[in-house]
Amino acid sequence: MTHLTVDRPVRLLLVNPALPESFWSFRWWLDMVPRKRAINLPLGLATLAGLCPPHWEVTIVDENVQSLPLEPEADLVGVCGMGAQLARQSEVLSYYRSLGYPTLAGGSFASLCPEKYAPLADFVVAGEAEYIWPAFCRDFETGAPRALYRETGQVDLRDSPAPRYDLLDLDAYTTVSMQFSRGCPYRCEFCDIIVMFGRRPRTKTPEQIGRELDLLRARSVRSVFFVDDNLIGNKREAKRLLRYLVDYQHRHNYRFAFSTEASLNLADDAELLGLFRAANFSCVFIGIESPDEASLEETGKTQNLRGDMLTAVRTIYSHGIDVLAGFIVGFDNDTPQTFERQYRFIRDSGIQVAMVGLLTALPHTPLYARLEREGRLLPHGVQGDNTKPATNVLPRCMDYEDMIRHYEDLFRRLFRPAAIARRILAKMRHLRCPPPLVQYSRREQVFILRRLLMRGILPGGPVRLFRFVRTLLAASSGTWPQVITDWIAGLAMRDYVRRHFGADPIRAERLVHKTADWLRRHNAAFLPEGLPRVTAVLDNGRAELQLILRGHMGNVFSGPSVRRLERMLRCSAATLSLRIEELRADQQDQVRELLKRLAPYGQRVSVWIHRQLRPSLPMDAYRFHLILEEPAG
Ligand code: SF4
Repeated sequence: MTHLTVDRPVRLLLVNPALPESFWSFRWWLDMVPRKRAINLPLGLATLAGLCPPHWEVTIVDENVQSLPLEPEADLVGVCGMGAQLARQSEVLSYYRSLGYPTLAGGSFASLCPEKYAPLADFVVAGEAEYIWPAFCRDFETGAPRALYRETGQVDLRDSPAPRYDLLDLDAYTTVSMQFSRGCPYRCEFCDIIVMFGRRPRTKTPEQIGRELDLLRARSVRSVFFVDDNLIGNKREAKRLLRYLVDYQHRHNYRFAFSTEASLNLADDAELLGLFRAANFSCVFIGIESPDEASLEETGKTQNLRGDMLTAVRTIYSHGIDVLAGFIVGFDNDTPQTFERQYRFIRDSGIQVAMVGLLTALPHTPLYARLEREGRLLPHGVQGDNTKPATNVLPRCMDYEDMIRHYEDLFRRLFRPAAIARRILAKMRHLRCPPPLVQYSRREQVFILRRLLMRGILPGGPVRLFRFVRTLLAASSGTWPQVITDWIAGLAMRDYVRRHFGADPIRAERLVHKTADWLRRHNAAFLPEGLPRVTAVLDNGRAELQLILRGHMGNVFSGPSVRRLERMLRCSAATLSLRIEELRADQQDQVRELLKRLAPYGQRVSVWIHRQLRPSLPMDAYRFHLILEEPAG
């Protein structure tokens, strides 16, 4: 590896790798709204860019909304990531490293376990970046960077720069992220936030936030999400911020709709709730975790034990603020009956975005240490997405397989259209008029409603249409946007459940073989030349159709063939691997059309395109799993 001794500006490429599809991707939801490609932007990279020396040329590429540059003009490539991105982060690092670029790893997972990254990148930056990143930049310029830069203390957030929002396509995200505080005063046993950021919340000043909002106003942003893990961790500072925001909104014609994460004791403080509403907070994500007191005690979530949780949720609704929530099953006290209690709580609370996760032990947390002592850590790696039907925790009062079965069943029950409607009706009994929807124009709102009807409501027949109308009639016209949002959220999660939970592997395998046979038959004239090559493989229980395209490709791109591929992906959990080795100029349009049609299933479509074809075949690679490695041999 060569280091750079600079006589010109350092060109830094920062990459946010693609996230694997999860509940959090809300892919179906994103297809409902114009222009949006992802939910959250890479705030850490924008902040890192703000910390770079002014003479550095920084580019940010978010693979979730744009294609990865395959041969960038860069002196250094930095790749960040959360635990869920580890696999792709490794692929991207290894690709750029193989081309000779100096590489750097960072992000929340590298901060939690930097040791995992030493073999993957030339440099690792672990922990809060405000002080160590400038040190790395200086060392890189002088040609003597160390392999590891680790923050062991805590940063004063007043030293944190405004994120370089100008380096991102903000219009591609449903909300723009911002951060006010780091750290949380509570001590939930499973939580990695307090491991990384400590238990003393540190904050920016309200004026810093004001300057960041000014930047967003100049870019026409309307929706802002405070990514703080608990915005009210320091209530005194939170109120100071909220008073500032109320004044800011008043001065700027209530420009923004805000949302954030907070602990449930928000509901105990009427002044705080009033300020949330006055500042135009439209929703808040809360870690409820469990309706069982014993499980909350066990995990140290004592702040949820101070009163009736259902009442707390309804109190928040009564201020016009929607509640999204996280739930966990798999605590030591949990039994198969816990799933029924979770279902009833979620049903009665009306929480539509209910992220139920299996208890997962993240490295370096107190939970991890305890389970390691007790010999109850399973060998599966942590996937970083706790809403997948797998975990590294061996439950105490349930059989592991039983727990997974109940877990999948809970999601299937929660996202039946009848259950979606029932939760909306429960919410509407308590939700007072929410802040007006500022994010979309009237025209865009009509577009969204039409899409929801065409793609989500009418395909369910008259019964679903009746339920939809009933939920609208139960709400005042001011809360209709919330009803529509809840239907979109519920159906988006349902779409994910249907495709990922309890998918029948035998059906997938059968469909892959049938599709492969069909393609072979209908391309028989070209097969003697050996191409296109169609192979059905079963890899680790996963059925995949592999399609290699080279030379004359016959009917592969004709309407019926494409429809066969779409059907296979729509009706099963099968995956498709598409390798484009050669392409005649007159077939490029067909390939583009094929990729467009496969895009809705892109998370299960891996695409490899020969290096020489890439310039003539630009594609929205963010939709697919773009294979970066050159094939062996
Ligand atoms: S309240 Fe949330 S952020 Fe705070 S310790 Fe518990 S899980 Fe972590």
